[in-house]
Amino acid sequence: MSPVTGVSVWPSAARLRAGRFPVTGGGVVPGGGVRGAGVPGSAAVDADGGPIDAGIAVLRRRGERVTSARRAVLEILSAASEHLSAEEVFGRALAVSPGLHRTTVYRALERLGELGLVTHVHTDHGPAFYHLSAPLTGAPHLHVRCRACERIVDVPADVLDDAARRLRDGAGFLLLADHTALAGLCSDCLDRNADADVDRDVDAGSPAG
Ligand SMILES: [Zn+2]
Ligand SMILES: [Zn+2]
Ligand SMILES: [Zn+2]
Repeated sequence: MSPVTGVSVWPSAARLRAGRFPVTGGGVVPGGGVRGAGVPGSAAVDADGGPIDAGIAVLRRRGERVTSARRAVLEILSAASEHLSAEEVFGRALAVSPGLHRTTVYRALERLGELGLVTHVHTDHGPAFYHLSAPLTGAPHLHVRCRACERIVDVPADVLDDAARRLRDGAGFLLLADHTALAGLCSDCLDRNADADVDRDVDAGSPAG
């Protein structure tokens, strides 16, 4: 199923996701119902503009140039229903603005990151994945990544609060969990594994038979 509907373990993830992608576009976005959804509680996103205009406004305020690469990166991340590697961002940027160079797009990603408009999350294997930052989307969140299907899913930002409190109280350790995706298995893959286990049991036959 789609990344949006497949997150039954985290009922509020779909809501968060809807908040993350207030200006969706293109054919790859599942759950078109979130299209144009408002972003309550976000000071950066004005009513008609959405995160792209908010990001461009920040660039202008900071005296930064609004290049075609920077604009393309904001548009691509805003429209994406999934988290994209730098190479995937580059591939989509080429479709929007042919002739862009890889280094230009990578530099745009980096500068937008330095300006706090774009963030990324690391996984236990593979490249970093990029998305618009919480100030643009109004939806702070953490990430989990399925080791089987490699899907990254947004989860509520407070999901580790108990663990963070215990680490702080018990070990004086400050947990910073927003830069790395937690690894595990998604509900779809767990279901598939359970089905496979049933098949194996049937194949093995009953000891009594
Ligand atoms: Zn990093
Ligand atoms: Zn999975
Ligand atoms: Zn995310």
